[in-house]
Order: sequence, then structure tokens, then C-alpha cells
Amino acid sequence: PYTYSSLDRSIDGTTMEIHYTKHAAAYATNLQDAAKSEGVDTKKPLEDVLGRISKFSAKMRNNGGGHYNHELFWKSLSPSGGGKPEGTKLMAAIESSFSSFDSFKTEFSDAGKNRFGSGWAWLFLDGDKKLRIGSTPNQDNPLMDVSEIKGLPVLGLDVWEHAYYLRYQNKRADYINAWWNVVNWGYIQNRYETQL
Ligand code: MN
Repeated sequence: PYTYSSLDRSIDGTTMEIHYTKHAAAYATNLQDAAKSEGVDTKKPLEDVLGRISKFSAKMRNNGGGHYNHELFWKSLSPSGGGKPEGTKLMAAIESSFSSFDSFKTEFSDAGKNRFGSGWAWLFLDGDKKLRIGSTPNQDNPLMDVSEIKGLPVLGLDVWEHAYYLRYQNKRADYINAWWNVVNWGYIQNRYETQL
């Protein structure tokens, strides 16, 4: 719902275009492929497969996760994003779980900065519907039965180099700091409330 260059204050248009039309498109194509050869009904929710991903191939894990994570990532961004989810249930839950919005941002940013190699930082709901922060390698996510952190993803940040390298090169922390300015809190808050 936005153009490639419309997030330019945080992420340049070339990065967004390559990310969407090459990287993410490849996950979608390869997922279709894996689903076909492993007998998965693609009309069923992808979450069902991710929850028992240990029963499937590495191709399904990498591309099923890749597709799911990127669909969430695009929707989590907006040219008019940034700020805080003021006055929402999500804001109240963040303040209760992490003591303040600023300390939540610090902890989430650290999860992204400290992920060695490629992966994602997550805000997710655990089994008790409590908000937690963590990270996963590669295209894994908290829905997967193989993941060290388990729960329902609320907000995900792609820290693969392909997400930021053209503008930020080795400075992942600068990318993360800038990314906060385009987070679509309306979408995230809605997502949080529907998963409660
Ligand atoms: Mn990516």
C-alpha cells in the first residue's frame, strides 16, 4: 500500500524494490514449489505448516518462513509511520512488560543488533499472551516448532543485510534506529488485539 521510495527517510527505494521483487518474490515462488512437492494445501493457513515445520524440508522452512516474515514486514511499515501506539491496549501491554516504551525500543533494537548473521528481531505473544522480545536466525520465526522462542509474532524486523546494505552498509544499528520512524503502529496494534 505504498511505493518503494515512499519510506526513503528510513529505507531507500532501490533497497525496497529489490527486497520485494527479488528476495521476497523468490521465497514466495520457492514456497509454492515446496508445497507442491510435499503435498501441502496452499489454501490452508501457512501458520499450520510453520507450527509443525520440523516435519517438512529445509526448503519449506526457509521459504515458508521467508514468505510469512516478509508479508508481515511490508504491512508493518508506512510512510506515515513512527511515533508510539499512544492510548492503545498495545501501548499499555508494552509499558507493563518492558516498563516503558523507550526501554522496549532499546531491548528490541538490541535483539536486532545482536542477532549474529542473518535473521529477525521479534515482538511476540507467548503462551500466556505476554509480550516478549527475541530473535531468530535465517527465516525462522516464533511460530515454528523448531524455534527457541515460541509464540505469535506481533512485530518483526528483518536484519538480513539485503534489507539495509545499500544505504547503511555495515551499520545495522543505524538502519534499526531509522526503521522505528516508519513502523505502522496502527497495523501492529490491530494485529496485537486480534491475537489476544
Ligand atoms: Mn528480507
